[in-house]
Amino acid sequence: TSTLEKLPPVSVHAPEFVRNVIGEIVAGRGDKLPVSQIPVDGTWPSGTSAWEKRNLALEIPVWDAELCIYCGKCPFVCPHSAIRSKVFPEALVKDAPSTFKHVLVKGKEFQKDEHISYQVAPEDCTGCGLCVEICPAVDKKNPSRKALNMAPQPPLREQERENWDFFLTLPEYDREQLRFNTLKGAMIAQPLFEASGACVGCGETPYIRLATQLFGDRMLIANATGCSSIYGGNLPTTPYTTNKEGRGPTWNNSLFEDTAEFGLGFRLSIDRQAATASHLMTGLKNQIGEQLVQDILNADQTTEPGIFRQRERLEEVKKCIKGINSEDARNLESVIDALAKKSVWIFGGDGWAYDIGSSGLDHVIASGRNVNILVMDTEVYSNTGGQMSKSTPMGAIAKFASSGKPIAKKDLAMIAISYGHVYVAQVAFGAKDVRTLKAFQEAESYDGPSLIIAYSPCIAHGIDLSFNLRQQNLAVDSGHWPLFRYDPRLKEQGKNPLQLDSKEPTLPLKDFIKTETRFNMLFRFAPEEAERLLQQAQENAIKRFNYYKQLAAISFSEK
Ligand code: SF4
Ligand code: SF4
Ligand code: SF4
Repeated sequence: TSTLEKLPPVSVHAPEFVRNVIGEIVAGRGDKLPVSQIPVDGTWPSGTSAWEKRNLALEIPVWDAELCIYCGKCPFVCPHSAIRSKVFPEALVKDAPSTFKHVLVKGKEFQKDEHISYQVAPEDCTGCGLCVEICPAVDKKNPSRKALNMAPQPPLREQERENWDFFLTLPEYDREQLRFNTLKGAMIAQPLFEASGACVGCGETPYIRLATQLFGDRMLIANATGCSSIYGGNLPTTPYTTNKEGRGPTWNNSLFEDTAEFGLGFRLSIDRQAATASHLMTGLKNQIGEQLVQDILNADQTTEPGIFRQRERLEEVKKCIKGINSEDARNLESVIDALAKKSVWIFGGDGWAYDIGSSGLDHVIASGRNVNILVMDTEVYSNTGGQMSKSTPMGAIAKFASSGKPIAKKDLAMIAISYGHVYVAQVAFGAKDVRTLKAFQEAESYDGPSLIIAYSPCIAHGIDLSFNLRQQNLAVDSGHWPLFRYDPRLKEQGKNPLQLDSKEPTLPLKDFIKTETRFNMLFRFAPEEAERLLQQAQENAIKRFNYYKQLAAISFSEK
C-alpha cells in the first residue's frame, strides 16, 4: 500500500560504470558482480560520492537572492560542499529552469553583466543547518528570516535537483580573476572534495574542502588512517574529484605510524624528478630552444597565474620533444610535469599527529622540506570509538580516561614553533573564517614545512553538530582554543613571527565545558574531581594565553 519507492543506490544519470558496478556495490550486491566488470588494471573513477544522492536531509536551505549580501560564508562552513556559488554572464541563464535563482553581483572584480547564484544540492545536503546559522543577512522586517532559511526537502527535491543540474552546467569562473583573499571570491572556486560520507555537520571536512578550492588542481595528499581516510576513500565511492581539465588532488592513504614520512616521500620524489627534468631539458636546449628552457627553469610559480604559464610552457616542450628520437627525450617526457609546482599535503587527526605518528611528524618538520601538514584536531580518536589522545583536554572523559583526563593536552603548536623555521597556525573555521583562509594560503606559500592545527568539532564531543559553529566560538572565547599564526618569514622583515588571532579569554572555561558531554559527564558522577580538574584547566588556559601573548609582544626589530 506504500506510495513510496526505494531510491536507486546512485543517480540514474550517473555514468554507466557508476550505475552498473559502483551502484551495485553501494546496494550491497557487490558479490554478485562478475569479475569481468572490474577494471583489470585496478583503476577506479574519482568524484563518485556525488552520484550517491543520499537524500539525508529532512530540511534544506532555501536561498533568498534579495536578502543575500554575497559574503561567501555559507559555502565556507558547509561540511558537504552542498551549497556553492558561481558567477556567470547573465546571458547564460536564459534557458535556466524557471525557479533557478540568481542576482546581479556587485563588486569591482566582476563584469557589469555578471550574476551570482548560491545553489544547494538538495540530495547531497545533509540538513545540518550550519549555512543558515552562519548567514549574517537578516530580514529587517522579519528578523526570524535570513538570506538562507531551512524548508522541508521532499517538496523541493525535484525542483532543486533540476536547478542544481543546471548550476553544474554553468562554467567555472576564471581563477585568475578571482580574489582569493576574500571569502566571497575564494568560495566561487570549485571544490574538488564533495558529498563526503562524513557525519552530518562534521567539523573536519570544511578544512579539506577549502584546501581543494585553493590548491586542488596541484595537490598530492598523504592521508593518515582515521576519519579523514574513511570519508576520503570510502570505496566504492570517493569524494575527491577533478576539474574540467581533469586535474584534481592525488589522494593516498597510509598507516597511522608513517603518514608524515609517506608525504615527505612525495616531496622528495617530486624534487628529484624536477632536478632530473631540469638536467635533461638543459641537455636538449638546442632542440627545445634556449629561451624556453631558461623561462621554465627561472619561472616564478608563487602565484596561480605563474603556475598556469609554467604548465603552458611545459606543454610546448612536450610537443617539441615528441619528434626527438632519443632516450633523453623519452626520459624527459616521463618527469617533465614535476617542473610545474605541486602542493604536497599531509592530512590526519590528532591520534596520528599527537600520538602514533608524532615522531614521524617531528622528523618531517625538522627536515625543512616544503610540505603542508593539516591536523584536524577532534581532541580524541574519533573513528575508532573515542579513545583518549595526547590532544584530549584535561577533564574530558574518553576511553582510557574514564575518570577524566588528569593532565593537560600537549601543545603541538608550541613544539613546532620552537624550531623557528616551521610555519604554524592554530585555526577554527567557525570562529575566524578569514584568518583560517589566510592561514591556508600562508602555509601553502611558505617554502618550508607548515603545520595547520584545525579545531574540529565532532560527534565524539557529545554535542549536536548543528551547534558546531557555536562550539568553536565558545572554545576560542573561553581560551580553550587560542588562535594564532607563526610565520617565520616575518622575522626577515624585523617583525614578530607570532600573530594572535584571538583575544584574551572573555568567557569562563566552564561556559564552554558545560555544553559538551565529554566534560559534563564527570560533573555527574564525580563532581568534586570534575571541579578540581576544571579549576586546573581554567588556570592552564589563562597561563597558556598569557604565554602566547608575551611571545607575540617580543620586539624583533633589532637583529
Ligand atoms: S544544511 Fe549543511 S549540508 Fe546542507 S547546504 Fe547547509 S551547510 Fe551544507
Ligand atoms: S551566508 Fe547568507 S548572506 Fe552570505 S552568501 Fe550565504 S546566503 Fe548570502
Ligand atoms: S566522527 Fe567526528 S571527525 Fe569523524 S566524520 Fe564524524 S564528526 Fe567528523
